[in-house]
Parts: sequence; structure tokens; C-alpha cells
Amino acid sequence: MTIDTAPLPYLDPAAPIEERLEDLLSRMTLAEKVGQMLQLDARGDLEDLVGGKLVGSLLHASPERIVESRALVERTRLRIPLLMADDCIHGHSFWPGATILPTQLAMACTWDPELVERGARMTAVEVAATGLHWTFSPVLCIARDTRWGRVDETFGEDPHLIGELGAAMIRGYQGAGLADPTAILATAKHFAGYSETQGGRDASEADLSPRKLRSWFLPPFQRAVEAGCRTFMLGYQAIDGVPITANKWLLNDVLKGEWGFAGTLVTDWDNVGRMVWEQKVCADHVEAAIVAVQAGNDFVMTTPEFFDAAQEAVRQGRLDEALISAAVHRILRLKFELGLFDDARLPDSARLSEIGSEPHARINLDIARRSLVLLRNDGTLPLSAPAGRTPTVAVIGPNADDQHAQLGDWAGASGQIPWLPDGHPRHLTSTVLDGIRSSVPADWTVTYARGADIGHEIVDPAGEVLRDGQPRPKLFIPAEPDSDQIAEAVRSATDADWAVVVLGDVVPLTGENKSTATLDLQGAQIALLDALVETGTPLIVVLIQSKPSTLPESADRAAAIVQAFNPGMQGGRAIAELLLGVIEPTGRLPITVPRHVGQLPVFYNNVRGQHGERYADLTQDPRFAFGEGLSYSTVEYSDLRLENSQLTSEGAVTALVTVHNTGSRPSMETVQAYVTDIVTSVTWAEKELKAFTQVIVQPGESVDARLEIPVRELTIVDARGHRTVEPGDFELRVGRSSRDADLLTARFTVTA
Ligand code: BGC
Repeated sequence: MTIDTAPLPYLDPAAPIEERLEDLLSRMTLAEKVGQMLQLDARGDLEDLVGGKLVGSLLHASPERIVESRALVERTRLRIPLLMADDCIHGHSFWPGATILPTQLAMACTWDPELVERGARMTAVEVAATGLHWTFSPVLCIARDTRWGRVDETFGEDPHLIGELGAAMIRGYQGAGLADPTAILATAKHFAGYSETQGGRDASEADLSPRKLRSWFLPPFQRAVEAGCRTFMLGYQAIDGVPITANKWLLNDVLKGEWGFAGTLVTDWDNVGRMVWEQKVCADHVEAAIVAVQAGNDFVMTTPEFFDAAQEAVRQGRLDEALISAAVHRILRLKFELGLFDDARLPDSARLSEIGSEPHARINLDIARRSLVLLRNDGTLPLSAPAGRTPTVAVIGPNADDQHAQLGDWAGASGQIPWLPDGHPRHLTSTVLDGIRSSVPADWTVTYARGADIGHEIVDPAGEVLRDGQPRPKLFIPAEPDSDQIAEAVRSATDADWAVVVLGDVVPLTGENKSTATLDLQGAQIALLDALVETGTPLIVVLIQSKPSTLPESADRAAAIVQAFNPGMQGGRAIAELLLGVIEPTGRLPITVPRHVGQLPVFYNNVRGQHGERYADLTQDPRFAFGEGLSYSTVEYSDLRLENSQLTSEGAVTALVTVHNTGSRPSMETVQAYVTDIVTSVTWAEKELKAFTQVIVQPGESVDARLEIPVRELTIVDARGHRTVEPGDFELRVGRSSRDADLLTARFTVTA
């Protein structure tokens, strides 16, 4: 008698993936298949999740649970490895001591895809070492109504910039390909239109026609497909009555059909259940399971009811098991390509030392430096000691020494997971106070006064937990001005040569379910600023916040304003270096800063045709425009010239512009190229960013910046919803921001 000792075909590493996949699928029961589609919360009962529900994936697993869950997989019949996922969206958010980068919005201020790619690569190295295989990043939503709480997670308002930076991040995460042990799966989210809220209210029905979607909201996602992004996460909202989870047109016709996406989908948190209990478009979970599977969903995030419901739907003959098999096929393909059947990619103690390493801190510092946007400077910056005196710097403000406000959302203590209640070890973060103390010359004096509080949270009287088991967001109570606190800050500013006033927002005002009705600086901050400006001491206002805020009139009297969206662990050091002129300011705004919340939505690429350009009681001009940002030098743009002004559809607009540094410090210029299509068959944006490049210009020097835009990019979306280039006259507009006054213009023609 011979005993067949050959491994089961799907366990044979030498067999081709397709064979292994088919073999495994053929052995799976319906329950095992449905279980593969589940991605459940690892904070639940692990035995039930892995042994009972047979889950294919877990999210929010603590370091210990990553290992425990693997041991449980070994006891299941087919030992199918788990895909371990989490929101490592600006660094390995929930791993104690990981490198926390600036948020996406801050990264977007760099306008530097290569740098963003390095940040994502570094993150992937840290994440992969800990036994996770998948990050739910990047966010490709377009931020237009900035009352929305998740603006910090976006790359801002422009489809082209979002597409470039998103593609870079995807390349960084996925590295050399899934077989690379440091590669993790990227997720393009939230597909699509989730940010187009009503009144900034999270997950509200999005008022989006297919044409409007195609015009602005879909292009960054199409770019993600082209960049090889392996997974897409759906949005929470409905469009025109159809929850995204049920939107066959978007998922099948557009994403998988037109764009050829062959990757894997994951719903957002309990999207399938929400169709029952929240959106009320399905009578029960069985119906919701049918709708979700028929629309082409693969992973179902945190709807445990799906396990029984999908099986029941098949038993009742209402759901074709072949559709479930097709989803499981897509899921297993990822696992095979990651090599998880041969190496489960558990936490690797040899590689854990790379987490929070010195080289990673340097990348983080580079990104933080480049993320800072100088918005105003009367010449006070960079700070230098007055002749014959050793100066005093007063550091003031609630965000001057607040690690959590600086790191922002999705950073350990931000509420999503319980195992880091105090966040990352304090010494890993350099706050502005830390940065200034360690960067000023030894004989300078640094004082500190908090000056104001922003506010605190209270439990919502409606209860601590939401219907889906998620913690109910707390209510935010803004702080009242405290006269003693303000008086102390005023004394400190009065006694100083300069006051660095660090204001902004806090994590309780950021994130899901935390949209704000106002964009004003909250709590006692305006009272503080009003009082400080009266001291006559030059104020350098530093805004550490999750999204742009409106500013009080007293801010107009500040000597300088530095925008620092949550700048990560190295943020304080980077800010100090900027103030002291150790580095040059290089960041540019990826999002418009309004003057007043009533201007919302406010963005630069408006569609032509409204009457007038102001409100009766307020200008529509924003406080700071998309693309704006200063350097410590003065720079002139001149001589915009095109290589060819008559183009065919195969051609490219190629332009040169001369950038001359007339000042005394180097400047890194982000040269921005916008295009105006002079006459369009339907109304269209007055101008759209189509290209950008960065050049460093030394004092007194001139550099020619070259920009190239393929004609195929000069599209509009026509009345039938088709993207098309309409031949005719165009204007190329090149300069240092989206403001008309900053742009040089050259005409060209595209012939049919
Ligand atoms: C968010 C997603 C996130 C998911 C898992 C959801 O509530 O909308 O962006 O990836 O939770 O944490």
C-alpha cells in the first residue's frame, strides 16, 4: 500500500496560483466561502470570529491579537490565512511607537509625489513588519465643504493633485509588488463622492449626478486603478437614492467595466447592515446580503449578520452561489499573491526594530518640513536676534505643546482603538515648544504660556454607543476665555521680542461624526489672539489643525501666519526650523482657506456662469487661495512660451516659463499650470490644474521650468457624461498659485 503524502494542491507552493485557487475553491463549503467575505473587528470574540464565522479578514487587531488569531486559523479545516488590515493612514497609526507622519492634508502641501511615496514606503515597511497586510489608505475624496470632519484625511480639493499624490502613495505601499515582504495592499477610498456632503454632515446623501461624479470625483480613483491599487473601499453615502454598496453602475459598469479594475472591494463599516437599519432600503440582512453581493462587493466590513444572511439567501434560491464564489476568488487571489499560504507574514521580530527608526524619523522630518505653508510674512520671519541683544521668544497657545493635536486623527489616542489611551510615547513627538526650545541659540530665552483652552468633550446624553456598536461621538463643549490665563499670556508676550502663537483645533473636532458647524477658532482662542495683538509684540501665528479655519480680524495684524495641518511627530522641530530660517518655507495650499463659513463650498475650480462674484454682505474671494504659499525670497515669473501653439489630439502642450529669484534666499517654487478651455459645449470650470513642477532657484538666479500637458488631458465631461477633448482655443495659465493675478497666459489651439 502506498500513502499519498503529496500536499493538497492549494498548499503546494510550486503550483501555479490559478490552480491553487481553483483547487481551494472547489473544497470550500458555502459557509467557508461566506466567511471569507467577512472582515470583522478583531476586538470581538476571536474564537467565534475565526472558528465560528470563519472570517477572511480582521481589522483593528492589537499586536497580541494578530498572533492569537493566526493560532486559531491553524485549528480551522482549511487553514486559510487571514488578511490582517488596519487604518495605517499617516504612518502605522495604532502601533505603539510607530512613525506618525503628517496627515494626508499636510502631506498634500508638499506638492511632491516622490516625497509622499517615500512616506508611504516607510509606512509599509513598519506595517508589514507587524503582521498586517493591508492599509485602508489613501483617501481620494475631494474636500469642498470643509465643515466635514474628515478633511484632514484628504489631499485637498483638486482632482489632478489628488490623483498624482494618491498614485504615489499607492506605489509606496505596494512597493515592488505583492510578493515583496514589505509590500502592503493599498486601498483607494471612499469610492466615490463620500465627501460631497450636505452641510458638511458626515455620510449624508450626496447630491451628485453621474456627470458631476465623472467631472471631479472619479478621476482620482481612475488614476488609482492605473497605478495598480489592489483594493477599493466604498463610501458610506447614497447617491440619488442608491447606497454605494448597491450601486451596480458605479461598481460594475464604471470601476470594473470601463476602467478594468480587477482588484478587490471592501465595504465601509457595516455598510451592508446600514442598508437595513440606517438607510432602510432593505427589509432585513438577507435582502441586504443579496443586494451587496449582486452589486459586486467582495469583503463585507463589520456586518457579522452577513454570515447567516448570505447563506440563507442562497438556500432560499434568491442569491446565486456563483456570485459568492466569484467574490471569494478575488479575495483568495490577494492572499495567494501575497504568498500568505506559504508564509502567513506574522509579526517579524527581526524587522520590528525598523519601527520608529532613525532613518524613518528623517523621512518624517523631511515631509513635515515640506508640509508647512507660510501664508503671511511682513519680514519678521525668519527670526534673527536684534543687534546687541539676546532675544526672548514667548511660545503661547493651546496647541504649542499638545502632542495629540499635532498628530491629529488616526494616531493612537484618537478614539478608534482602545490599546493606546495615551497615544504614542510622548518623547517621540516634538511639539512646537519642544522644537523651539531645542533649536534656538543657547543664549535666547524661551517662555511658555498656554493662554487659552479649546474645549472638552462630554458624553452625548443619547448614550455612549451607537446602534452598530461603535462608540457614539462625544459632544464638544468650547472653553470660555479665562482672564487669568489670558493675562499670563499677555505678560509673556509683552516681555518677549516675538510671540509664537500656536492655535488650531483638536482631535475631538476632527474625524467621523465630528463635522463642525463653524470654521472659527474654537474656545478661548479668539479672545487670546485679540488680547495678544494689543501688546504690540510681533505675533507669529502657527495654525496646527485638521483643516483650514476662518480667522478673526486680529489675525490680520499678525506679523506672520504659518499653516501647519497636523504635521506629525517631527512637526514641532520642523516649525522651529522654519521660524528660525534653518529651512526655507516651501509648502503650497492644496485647499482653499475661506474668510467665512458662509462662503462654503469654496474651491478654485468653479464652474462658469454665476451672476457677479460676491455676496451682498461679503466678498467671495477666499482668505488664501488654492496653490498659495510664500518663500523667504521674492520671485518673479516671466516669459511664458509654448513650443507649439497648434496641436492635434496626439500632441502635448509644452511650455517654458522663467522663474527669477529677486530676493536674498533660495526658493523652491511649485510652478503650477492651469488650463482654460475658452468655449465649451457645456459649462465647465474656468481653470483646472493640469500639471506642476518644482524648481529651486538661488538668489539672483533664473531657472526655466518646463511643463508638459498631453492634449488628451484637456478634457471636459460633455452633456452625455463622456470625457472628451473639444477642439478649439485654450489658454495655458502658469504661475505660483491659482489666483488670476499670479498667472501668466499663453494661447494655443487644438485642431480636430
Ligand atoms: C471609515 C473608514 C475606515 C474604517 C475602518 C470607517 O468608519 O470610514 O475610512 O477605514 O472605518 O476603520
